[in-house]
Amino acid sequence: MSSDTPVIGHWIDGAPHASTSGRTAPVFNPATGAETARVALADEAEIAAALASAERGFAEWSTWSIAKRQGVLFAFRELLNARKGELAAIITAEHGKVLSDAMGEILRGQEVVELATGFPHLIKGAYSENASTGIDVYSLKQPLGVVGIISPFNFPAMVPMWFFPVAIAAGNAVVLKPSEKDPSAALWLAELWAEAGLPAGVFTVLQGDKQAVDGLLHSDTVQSISFVGSTPIAQYIYETASRTGKRVQALGGAKNHMLVLPDADLDLVADQAVNAGFGAAGERCMAVSVVLAVDPVADELIAKITERIATLRVGDGAGDGTGEPDMGPLISAEHRAKVSGYVDIAEADGARIVVDGRGLTVDGREDGFFFGPTLIDDIPTDSRAYTEEIFGPVLSVVRVETFQEGVDLINSGRFGNGTAIFTNDGGAARRFQHEVQVGMIGINVPIPVPVAYHSFGGWKASLFGDAKAYGVHGFDFFTREKAVTSRWLDPATHGGIDLGFPQNR
Ligand code: NAD
Repeated sequence: MSSDTPVIGHWIDGAPHASTSGRTAPVFNPATGAETARVALADEAEIAAALASAERGFAEWSTWSIAKRQGVLFAFRELLNARKGELAAIITAEHGKVLSDAMGEILRGQEVVELATGFPHLIKGAYSENASTGIDVYSLKQPLGVVGIISPFNFPAMVPMWFFPVAIAAGNAVVLKPSEKDPSAALWLAELWAEAGLPAGVFTVLQGDKQAVDGLLHSDTVQSISFVGSTPIAQYIYETASRTGKRVQALGGAKNHMLVLPDADLDLVADQAVNAGFGAAGERCMAVSVVLAVDPVADELIAKITERIATLRVGDGAGDGTGEPDMGPLISAEHRAKVSGYVDIAEADGARIVVDGRGLTVDGREDGFFFGPTLIDDIPTDSRAYTEEIFGPVLSVVRVETFQEGVDLINSGRFGNGTAIFTNDGGAARRFQHEVQVGMIGINVPIPVPVAYHSFGGWKASLFGDAKAYGVHGFDFFTREKAVTSRWLDPATHGGIDLGFPQNR
């Protein structure tokens, strides 16, 4: 690292906080392959400073009225909406996705901010007057306190925004540990909160690696953990946070299938398979990675997908003077090697590589981490390239004879994040939604990411814990309920001594 390489630090106590840990990791522009900065990796002292500030932030924030808190949320929403172009450029520079896609993730995150502005309605308790004679019962929803969010590289703005608008609206203080691969979006969001009037300490950014994560998991200050990332880490987070007595939601990896019935409109299917398979270079937990083609559609569908792949332009997501490409690079050289390795495995296992993205280079960006769109036919379902998440622009086709064979294959997998069916048969779609063991289902829609007022979460190894992100689940996760049974004594209702178990009278 040269002495003028910038070091991306933390956001603690409402201000940038330079790191003194002496530990850093590289941050790249994936389109050029250049190391553009280093990111600080927190040590114990920095973790402690972040948590102490968050505790103070919570003490302050929890005294603010609903009306004042709502004012801050509205201000944040307005600032985000006005300045989202700045954030999109930051995302593209560190993640690599094309600018319009970066904007797309911001808008989906902004939806949750908008949901959260209506929080008074979502944290209201209930009141039952005269539940028993002279006795009223009511519930209160209170914030948890300091809550931790640990996010992945692939949505550096949207995934944190699945959680923090809800957590903050509900009265909590957030400590966000972003991915060390694209750490700047979180700092930009922190600045925006400060500008919106959020008190210091209510939104903290702690940069780091496993040490920072473990610091949050083992802290008595942290009341809950919201994690999104790969399945092995999600499981580790779930187990560790549960053991330390925290509320935890840990969203993991995916392998999403699209079932295509013979009556489907194959042009629609081909368009959607390409969009959902190759958008963001396949680095989406809701990417379609397997097309299950029910006989006899496979040959025609593969031809249509192949035609469309030929039109895709791969390049620098920030543009290169000739307009925005369709697809940017992968996140790192190591990840590209891993994706490429999976295509090697598929080939060695007997699959047919119809379109091969291995070895693709982009003119003028020869050192970028590019990988071309790849289409694989006849992938054996016991190949690791089928059973494991590839997380790259690799779309595999499995030919099945019947609807049931397709559903059984989906249900036999370890993941259950998203899936889709393409058909014009309403009865088949209805059976599909009933039988499939997956948390989010699209019917003629390839990436069924629910809108903000529903909730996001998969089944099986795609979500550990039982609370989904945002929507009503989000508000339930970030609040604790109290039930109060109250009697204001007046002589007329005084029951006198009665040692029996309280009954409703
Ligand atoms: P990752 O699991 O490598 O990292 C996620 C977070 O965990 C990061 O903040 C990272 O710093 C931290 N981390 C990594 N290793 C750790 C360890 N050993 N101990 C403690 N913390 C650790 O995931 P990623 O590569 O950043 O993201 C891609 C993965 O996320 C894919 O598997 C994708 O499917 C998944 N994802 C899932 C969803 C969903 O909603 N289910 C959404 C987005 C991404």
